[in-house]
Amino acid sequence: MTASMQTGSKAPALAVPDLSVASAALVLTLTVVLAGLAYYFLGYDQGAVSVFGSDTHIHELVHDSRHYLGFPCH
Ligand SMILES: [Zn+2]
Repeated sequence: MTASMQTGSKAPALAVPDLSVASAALVLTLTVVLAGLAYYFLGYDQGAVSVFGSDTHIHELVHDSRHYLGFPCH
């Protein structure tokens, strides 16, 4: 009987990173903050709510992505 024919053999263990609760909370918080910033600049930074005043550089930079994702624009 070869090794490949044995039944009940264990699957190889997956490597799981050892994250403490504090580092996991830090990673999740940073992820939410960065995702929120990306969401804001892609979808809402325009006109009166623009972070940089009446400057439209951010709006023009993400303009095609905004239309592609279905955010209202003009
Ligand atoms: Zn547009």
